[in-house]
Amino acid sequence: MRRKYICGNWKMNKTSSQARDFAEKINKFDFKNVDVLLAPSFVALESFRKNLSEKIEVASQNLSQFNDGAYTGEVSTSMLKDIGVENVIIGHSERREKFFESNEIVNAKVKKALADDFHVILCLGEALEVKAENKEVNFVKDELLKSLAGIENLQNITIAYEPIWAIGTGKTCSAEDAEKMCREIRSIINKNYGEISKEIRILYGGSVKPSNAKEILSQDNIDGVLVGGASLDADDFIEIIKAGEGL
Ligand code: PEP
Repeated sequence: MRRKYICGNWKMNKTSSQARDFAEKINKFDFKNVDVLLAPSFVALESFRKNLSEKIEVASQNLSQFNDGAYTGEVSTSMLKDIGVENVIIGHSERREKFFESNEIVNAKVKKALADDFHVILCLGEALEVKAENKEVNFVKDELLKSLAGIENLQNITIAYEPIWAIGTGKTCSAEDAEKMCREIRSIINKNYGEISKEIRILYGGSVKPSNAKEILSQDNIDGVLVGGASLDADDFIEIIKAGEGL
């Protein structure tokens, strides 16, 4: 039985004090049947972890594939572990598109994270041009296999399918189409990695809101959501958690 996973990615939003206010609100809300994770900025991570209920996991939105040294502006796995962070989002489409992270870089980051015992949320998803040519399944397959090249054990990995055209645009992929792609991803994982395909959690991300969360989360192959915009408002995010709790 895969527990639903409700994850929020704050991107470059919220100062440490805004994150503390959010923590105060969400700590009052009790949930039992789902796992919840939030990814604030690097700067807010340490104090957010301290202020947040232990029931909620935190993640960084990125990390360096290098150990340490002359990498100005980068953050290492040991720096993150030192402040109690053991989850990371890797390969978000904004990192891939705006910061030129290729599948090879994403792969190096996933390997580094796993080697240092992180749990990884690996993001995949096609752009509108790819979808317009009906090539999205091949595109996502290629991204998945290249991002995981040389990795045999997917135990500490969660996949997030996030079609780029649905991120921050208000255009949600229909629950049916999201389910279809997540089913495809599970079947690709089954062919390439075997039985882990039954356990691995596959999330959907792209304009998830309180109004559509329940329908998305009800799909058989969708084990959770990665939420951007709607995770910034504690009340909205709580509504999305409730949608997962109620299933
Ligand atoms: C995201 O950033 O991963 C995302 C899905 O954003 P939004 O929910 O705002 O579309």
